[in-house]
Amino acid sequence: MRTLNYDALVIGFGKGGKTLAGKMAGQGMKVALVEKDKGMYGGTCINVGCIPSKSLIHSAAAAYRHKNSPKADMYRKAIEVKRSLTGMLRKKNYDKLDMLENVTIYDGMARFAGAKLVEVETAEETFCINADKIFINTGAAPRIPAIEGIQDTEGVYTSAGLMDLDIFPEKLVIIGGGYIGLEFASMYSGFGSQVTVLQDGDTFLPKEDEDVAAEIKKILEERGVEFRLGAKIKKVEKGPAVLIEWQGEELCLDADAVLVATGRVPNTAELNCEAAGVELTPRGAVKVDEYLRTTAEGIWAMGDVAGGLQHTYISLDDSRIVGAQLFGGRDYNTAMRSNVPYSVFLATPYSRVGMSERDAKAAGYQVKIAKLPTAAVPKAQVLKAPQGFLKAVIDADTNKILGVMLLCEESYEMINIVKLAIDMGADYTVLRDQIYTHPTMSEAFNDLFAV
Ligand SMILES: Cc1cc2nc3c(=O)[nH]c(=O)nc-3n(C[C@H](O)[C@H](O)[C@H](O)COP(=O)(O)OP(=O)(O)OC[C@H]3O[C@@H](n4cnc5c(N)ncnc54)[C@H](O)[C@@H]3O)c2cc1C
Repeated sequence: MRTLNYDALVIGFGKGGKTLAGKMAGQGMKVALVEKDKGMYGGTCINVGCIPSKSLIHSAAAAYRHKNSPKADMYRKAIEVKRSLTGMLRKKNYDKLDMLENVTIYDGMARFAGAKLVEVETAEETFCINADKIFINTGAAPRIPAIEGIQDTEGVYTSAGLMDLDIFPEKLVIIGGGYIGLEFASMYSGFGSQVTVLQDGDTFLPKEDEDVAAEIKKILEERGVEFRLGAKIKKVEKGPAVLIEWQGEELCLDADAVLVATGRVPNTAELNCEAAGVELTPRGAVKVDEYLRTTAEGIWAMGDVAGGLQHTYISLDDSRIVGAQLFGGRDYNTAMRSNVPYSVFLATPYSRVGMSERDAKAAGYQVKIAKLPTAAVPKAQVLKAPQGFLKAVIDADTNKILGVMLLCEESYEMINIVKLAIDMGADYTVLRDQIYTHPTMSEAFNDLFAV
C-alpha cells in the first residue's frame, strides 16, 4: 500500500477542520483533508445542520403567514430552496479549499493505522497518509435509541432525512423534546403539520428556568404542537405509528413521518483510535485536554467529536485554540472560554447566555431579577410578534450580569450584545444606559435593565 507524506492531515470537513486547513496552507504547510461523504463538503452545518434547518424555518414562517396556500406546495418549494442553498454552499466550501495549492482533498474514509499513520479508503483504492500533525474533526451523528422498530420502519427519519423529504408530512411525531426536536416542532407546525412531541422525562427543558420553559411550551402549544411528557415509547410500527404508554394509558400515534431527535454522539466508532494511542471518553468522544490535545502526541480533536458543546461556533473556536499552538498568538484554551451563548430558532426565538436564575441562586449569588414582556417592545409590535419575555439575572452585590434569557423575535442577534457586555465586565447599567437605534429589539435593554 502506498504512503503519502503531508505536514498536516485533517480528518473530516467540519468547521474547525476546514478553517485550520486553510490557515495551515497559508503558512506554507502541505495539507491533506479527508472527507468520507461527497455530500458533506463543509460539514454538518452547511449540509444537514444549521443552514438547511434555518432555511426551512425561514420558509415555514412564510408558510405560517400564508396559511391558506396549499401546504404541500409551500413545503416542496421550501425543500427545493433548501437544496439549492446547501448545494451552492457545499460547492463554495469545496472550491475554497480545492483552489489552494497546498491543500489536497481526498474523498475517502479515514481510520488510524498507527501513530501518525492514517489509512484512507476511497472508491478506487486504499492508501496511507503519514502526517506530522493530525486533526480529528469528524463531528457527531444522531443517537438512535434502542426502541423496537426504530431502525427499520419506513417513515422514521433523523433530522437530515426529514429535511430531504419531498412529501409533506401532515402528521409528524417527534421523539425527543430537546433543542433540535423543538426547532423541528416549531418549523413543521409552521408548514401546517400536526406535530406531537414525545419526551421520556417529565420536566420540559430541564436546563432552563421554569418560567422560561413554561413560556416556550405555551408558545409552541398555541401553534398547535402537542406534548406528551413522561411518555414511554414501546415500539415503532409500520405506518409509521408510535406505540406509547402515557399517563397510565397505551396510545398508538399514527404519523406520516417520525423524527428521531434524541441527541448526537461523537463520530469515533470507525476511526480505530486505539491504533494511534488516541483515548476516548466513556461517552465515546475523543479525550482532549484544554488545548484540545489528544492522548497521542501531535494529534488534536476539534468540534463535536471532542465532546464539548455541539455548535458550529464552538468548532470554529476550537480551531482558534489549535491554531494558536501552531502559529503563535494569544494563549487560549477551552478552560478560558466563558459565556458561550446559544439560540434555539423557534418561531419565537429563544437565546441565552450565562446562568439561569436557578443556577445563580444555587451558586450562592444574591440576585436581582429583571423581566420585561416582549409585548412592551415597540419593534415587537411592528413585527406582530409580542409573544415571550426578556429576563436578566444580575448580581445584586456587584451589578454584574450573570445571565440573560431572551424569548423574543431577533433574540439570536441581541444575545451577542449581551455576551460582549459580560465579557467586557460591564455593569448592567451599561446596557441600560446605551443609545440604541429605534425601533429595534435591542433597545429593549433600556427598559429590561431599568431595575
Ligand atoms: C439539525 C441540526 C441543526 C443544528 N443547528 C445549529 C445551529 O443553528 N447553530 C449551531 O451553531 N449549531 C447547530 N447544529 C450543530 C452543528 O451543526 C454542529 O455542532 C457542527 O456542524 C459540528 O461541526 P464539526 O466541525 O464538529 O464537524 P462536522 O461539521 O460534523 O463535520 C464532520 C465531518 O467529518 C466527516 N467524517 C466523519 N467520520 C469520518 C471519517 N472516518 N473519515 C472521513 N471523514 C469523516 C463527516 O462526513 C463530516 O462531514 C445543528 C445540528 C443539527 C443536526
